[in-house]
Amino acid sequence: MSNPLYDALFAPHEDKSTPFLHLADGSTITHGAFLNEVGQTANALRALGVKPGDRVAVHVAKSPQALALYAACVKSGAVFLPLNTAYTPRELEYFVGDSGAALFVCDPSEADDLQAIAGETGGVLKTLGGDGKGSLTDVVATQPIDFETCERGADDLAALLYTSGTTGRSKGAMLTHKNLLSNAEALVETWRFTSDDVLLHALPIFHSHGLFVATNIMLLAGGSMIFLPKFDAEIVLDRLPDATTMMGVPTFYTRLLDDPRFTKDLVGHMRLFISGSAPLLAETHKQFEERTGHKILERYGMTETSMSTSNPYDGERRAGTVGLPLPGVEAKICDAETCDEIPTGEIGVLWVRGPHVFKGYWQMPEKTREELMEDGWFITGDLALIDERGYIHIVGRGKDLIISGGYNIYPKEIELFLDAIPGVKESAVIGAPHPDFGESVVAVLVPETDASLDTSEIEALVRRDLAGFKRPRRIEIVDALPRNTMGKVQKNQLRETFADSFQ
Ligand code: ATP
Ligand code: MG
Repeated sequence: MSNPLYDALFAPHEDKSTPFLHLADGSTITHGAFLNEVGQTANALRALGVKPGDRVAVHVAKSPQALALYAACVKSGAVFLPLNTAYTPRELEYFVGDSGAALFVCDPSEADDLQAIAGETGGVLKTLGGDGKGSLTDVVATQPIDFETCERGADDLAALLYTSGTTGRSKGAMLTHKNLLSNAEALVETWRFTSDDVLLHALPIFHSHGLFVATNIMLLAGGSMIFLPKFDAEIVLDRLPDATTMMGVPTFYTRLLDDPRFTKDLVGHMRLFISGSAPLLAETHKQFEERTGHKILERYGMTETSMSTSNPYDGERRAGTVGLPLPGVEAKICDAETCDEIPTGEIGVLWVRGPHVFKGYWQMPEKTREELMEDGWFITGDLALIDERGYIHIVGRGKDLIISGGYNIYPKEIELFLDAIPGVKESAVIGAPHPDFGESVVAVLVPETDASLDTSEIEALVRRDLAGFKRPRRIEIVDALPRNTMGKVQKNQLRETFADSFQ
């Protein structure tokens, strides 16, 4: 009998008294206790009628029980489908309906609103709160621990993870046992995780970053996690002395840098800080090194592939790049139109291939055919270049490319220019419809705290240093950029807000 993901990540920890989760209240859950909960939860899934291959949709706060539910899905052959906690009932209806979930687990407070949604697919609704209590927990508590692990093949689905919906409607990425396991193996090796590691985990667990990158790695390595419900700078500062490593989105690091208590002394003992999910500004990388002596290790991935590239552990960590392909991963840059590979240093669309590439989009055969080639290459949709040393630079998303009067304009290039202007904290450059050029450039700027920006001065700099076709024709000052919980700038929203800029 085999179940690749369970056998590698979970089975080795059964009966172990080593620590697995250090919780915010100071208590610790051992590997053995966690695995007992997993066995009971797997029995509960069976008792609730969940069969191998069925989807289990989960819209709950982060908790050890929610993590046990993931493991129980793997153990019982079900497909784990975590959902962003920010989604509203209207949005959940799409995900639950699209996936045809057999079981829908939600927070107790939303059960009344969601009952009908679960019913539409003939599914059962159970609840689980952030405190670990709910009607699912009541079923789990009555179940035995022993559960015969369900046989699964390497290509069977372990999870259905919807993309973040940054560029349009979220798509369900079908992730197999092989996808998740191969990626965890590559990352443990690349980032040197061992059972001595204690990872500070303040990420959500409905997204690839906190769920697969962080949790799967720690399970494979056998280490423990400081498992916090969310990122709270106060608590993170308090717990960092007990950690060896931390994973975060760029906003975690900028928030820590905003706090004078975040010092070299506080993190001198740390082994590694990792960043991903959104671009880390080179400026943040630099400030972080100046403050702490640590170079943040930036990596790149997406829901469909888990991680594809990483800056090296030992070699140079180059700010503003996402490093090199992981072991087992191939990467190339292709022309958007012809799909021909293009030379070193030129911008095109990033393609990746390897055991980590997903099986396709759930119930979207056409989209799958367009983006996932028969020979295994996946068209990421991100624009990138590979430099002469093999480091990959993400230049932006294909969908954010601005085409003005026939010229391609890469927002990232203009953003880097604007960010370097004194008083500018960050920027987002978007295209807005223009009667003559098709599209033209709008720059949205966030000033540094206490700085005030003079748009006419910025316009003068832009006129002096940027080619005419690239120049922002409109400059907007805002207090903050719209971001989702993973720190991704929501350019769709900005495009809507500034759609009439040139009309
Ligand atoms: P959707 O596909 O629904 O529009 P999304 O692409 O934001 O949403 P995710 O799969 O969560 O959904 O995010 C993957 C994307 O995040 C990548 O394609 C890339 O654009 C961006 N990304 C991730 N890590 C980095 C990084 N280190 N630097 C720059 N961009 C990154
Ligand atoms: Mg995407």
